[in-house]
Amino acid sequence: MANLRHCRPQESVTLLDDVSNSLCHIADAAELVRNVHPDEAYVAHASSAVQEIAGYMSEVNLDASVYQCMKDAEAEASRDSEGLSLEARTVLHHMRVSMEHEGIHLAQAEKQACIEMLDAEQQLAFDIVQRQEQARQRISSGTDGAWIPVSALGNLSLDQWRLKERSGRHGREVHVPRDTFLADRILKVVPCGEARRQMHEAQQSRDSAAEEMMVQLLAVRQQLAKIRGYPSWAHYAQREALFQSPDKVKHFLEATWEQLRPGFLAELRVLADEKEALGQGSILEPWDVPFLLHRCKEKRQEADQISTYLTYGSLMAGVELVLSRLLGLAFVQEDPDPGEVWHPSVQKFALRDAERTIGILYLDPFPRPGKKVQSAQFTLQGSKMLADGQLQVPKTCLVYALPPGSQCLSTSFAVTFMHEIGHAVHSLLSETHFQHLSGTRGTIDFVEFPSHLFEHFVLDPDCLATYASHSTTGARLPQNLRDAHCHRPFGHFEAVQQLTYALVDQAFYSFHPSPEKDLQTHLHSMLGSFEQGLDGPSNASLLELLGLSTATARFDHLVHYGGSYYCYLFNRALSAHVWQQSFRPDPFNRETGERLHSLLRGGSVVQTLDVIRDLCPGDPAFDAHEVPLDAMMA
Ligand SMILES: [Zn+2]
Repeated sequence: MANLRHCRPQESVTLLDDVSNSLCHIADAAELVRNVHPDEAYVAHASSAVQEIAGYMSEVNLDASVYQCMKDAEAEASRDSEGLSLEARTVLHHMRVSMEHEGIHLAQAEKQACIEMLDAEQQLAFDIVQRQEQARQRISSGTDGAWIPVSALGNLSLDQWRLKERSGRHGREVHVPRDTFLADRILKVVPCGEARRQMHEAQQSRDSAAEEMMVQLLAVRQQLAKIRGYPSWAHYAQREALFQSPDKVKHFLEATWEQLRPGFLAELRVLADEKEALGQGSILEPWDVPFLLHRCKEKRQEADQISTYLTYGSLMAGVELVLSRLLGLAFVQEDPDPGEVWHPSVQKFALRDAERTIGILYLDPFPRPGKKVQSAQFTLQGSKMLADGQLQVPKTCLVYALPPGSQCLSTSFAVTFMHEIGHAVHSLLSETHFQHLSGTRGTIDFVEFPSHLFEHFVLDPDCLATYASHSTTGARLPQNLRDAHCHRPFGHFEAVQQLTYALVDQAFYSFHPSPEKDLQTHLHSMLGSFEQGLDGPSNASLLELLGLSTATARFDHLVHYGGSYYCYLFNRALSAHVWQQSFRPDPFNRETGERLHSLLRGGSVVQTLDVIRDLCPGDPAFDAHEVPLDAMMA
């Protein structure tokens, strides 16, 4: 790094990316190991490696000479616009701005304050998530909850929960803590409306300690946003995103709600009819919703029948087809070298273009004690041009907890499987010169597009029928099940759920905490139109019905996504549109495949809607907030 001062801009970017590449090799592998390795000693060493690298990175991020070299290189490159490729300029700019976000360019006192805020932000985020996780598992001894008669709980297993007991008016009662998995389970499966009402109300009562932590986190993030030159954290979250401003996100969410509303109300009426059929009246209460939804989904026999076509083997046949027919690549299983993988069940695949290996995929499909993630993608090596003129081959790992053998998967499990495959393929097909913005190393609303597009390889019935076969007979998906698979059950409801989460996220990050202002008052004023009656089979507002009216304290997505949660609903709409325009008529068309390949080849260097819209030649242009919604509604 000492040589950096004497470098030309191209050499500077290359050198910085080389260093970052070496560090990522260790940190990325360690991150995977600490999440999946069966040996505790490996996990412990991996955790300390992750911390050591993170510590070193934060030192480098505060190195004034590195920063000065970046600025000089950027200035020199702007004088000589021919000299540096678009990617090199983008990477250089991105690296410099990232350093400024850590406070490198500030005067000493401000820089110190910035460092303290960054530490506080990390600590608060960790504490909040930890607290919620412990509440769910009931490791902590929170006292808020509801006394529920044991007779109402049917055959729900209570053994592992060590609940407090008392004898009450209705016989033996147990105290169920409000934020546990058990509480959620009760809301889903217990027929007794009164027990569910009590559980729901306990969950909705305000948790002032948790709320206080969320407000502290918000205050720190708002200060950081201000230091970084943005009016609010919501604006900061949009700095490289497709919408560019929180106003446009708001526009998108409001327009989408208007479109979703009729279908959503129709689905609520289905739930209300179910309630009436049970002899419990026909007005939906918030504590009825999870129960009736679960019940209606369980009653759909087609869901079970479709599931018999969704095995791990079936889905892998689909992946093979996507890679070979659509993308023209070979997908070959290889024997891992001794010590290369962390468990015998891990499979290794090479992705080949003619004779050239262009990517390596590790698949760790099945559950195992000690595995800390359910479905996730880990990048192990990004694409990069090496000094010898060879491309560094991207390596990525997918981790799941699929039922082993030829057991059947639910549709939602299968969709998640293909979603993660989409992330992996984006990573593996990347051919960037620098690893800094390779594959999925981009802004969340852009990188969630390929994964959402891939979901349609499962969601589209005709496409699914080309590869899915019955778990025992091997038969293809019959027409009646294809017809049933056309409609996503309670699809509007799911979309509205994503929408309300996004609304709360946006409203939350537009609040600037101060002693005179109350978060809940702010949220009520921002979300006012969603708190009015629904004009449907319920007297509750949308937010009440979905259990979100006081939910800021329970909603850990606010911590993780910080103003970007809308990206799921947005990509649901965008991917449905692109699928309908370009993939639906012929999902494995080679020309379409070439266009997709060229999008993915670019990694995350050019993160614009235009490069996505190139998948639909001749399609009229639109801005992110005006994404066509028809395909998602269908
Ligand atoms: Zn994703």
